[in-house]
Amino acid sequence: MKLVEPAKTIEIIKENNFAFQKKYGQNFLIDGRVLEKIVDAAQVSPEDFIIEIGPGIGTLTQALCERGAKVLAIEIDKKLIPILEDNLKGYENIEIINDDVMKLDLNRLIEEKNENRPVKIVANLPYYITTPIIMSLFEKNVPMISATLMVQKEVAQRMQAGPGSKAYGALSLAVQYYSVPEITANVPQNCFIPRPNVDSAIIRLNRRNEPPVRTDDEKLLFAVIRAAFCQRRKTLQNALSNSAELSVSKEAAANAIEKAQLPPLVRGEALRLEEFADLANILAKEKTGIGV
Ligand code: SAM
Repeated sequence: MKLVEPAKTIEIIKENNFAFQKKYGQNFLIDGRVLEKIVDAAQVSPEDFIIEIGPGIGTLTQALCERGAKVLAIEIDKKLIPILEDNLKGYENIEIINDDVMKLDLNRLIEEKNENRPVKIVANLPYYITTPIIMSLFEKNVPMISATLMVQKEVAQRMQAGPGSKAYGALSLAVQYYSVPEITANVPQNCFIPRPNVDSAIIRLNRRNEPPVRTDDEKLLFAVIRAAFCQRRKTLQNALSNSAELSVSKEAAANAIEKAQLPPLVRGEALRLEEFADLANILAKEKTGIGV
């Protein structure tokens, strides 16, 4: 029987006396159509090596195994390990690791288990740690083709947003620097047990081979972006010169904004990634930013 069936999930929870851990963001999927949507969005095939973050009782893991992919599932909650092992004992293409994904060296693991070939990440992510997990996958340069993730709907919208929208911010730019995001489905609260108090969405992040902009100093680019959105109602000039992370005077900020051919009173929320990159490159040349 499929683990995603609500009656089956409830039976497993009762039989094992399993108590949901709020601190681990445990909301288990109980909707078979949503499950298929995740696996379809990830375009899972028998050639794939998949890393699943947070398998829970193995609901999504089972669907990934059924598609014939090799699956490595990383679960933090040790109480779930015997349950997972029991639920997935019929499959040979699964390995379970009991660890915190934030503490694991995924690059080393991929080298060891998949000869460094790029993997697909698939996960119904715990809400409390969504952004740190995504940013760490990108910043540590984990070899991956794509990450297909269930996340809080607002977070998915922020990742996909462009200039001029309220959802646009530092997360949009960071995600779009490393990948091409695509929301593939919205998921209501009643598809999970326990029911979360926010809606969710499935988003696929297709990893780029190269960043879409040229930057002389990546660290400075992201410091400029963070400064611009830290005080998003302020003009870019004020936001840059008020930033503790950057050491840019008001004059230097005004100068760089002019050189980048931006309006003097522009706000950061109006800038595209290319414009942030130009601005950061100008600041790097003027030697007015950090790390220069
Ligand atoms: N994949 C299951 C499903 O779809 O029903 C469970 C998803 S649930 C939203 C998130 C899972 O991530 C939980 O099983 C939780 O224990 C696990 N988890 C939370 N923090 C984690 C971490 N830092 N590393 C690995 N797993 C984690």
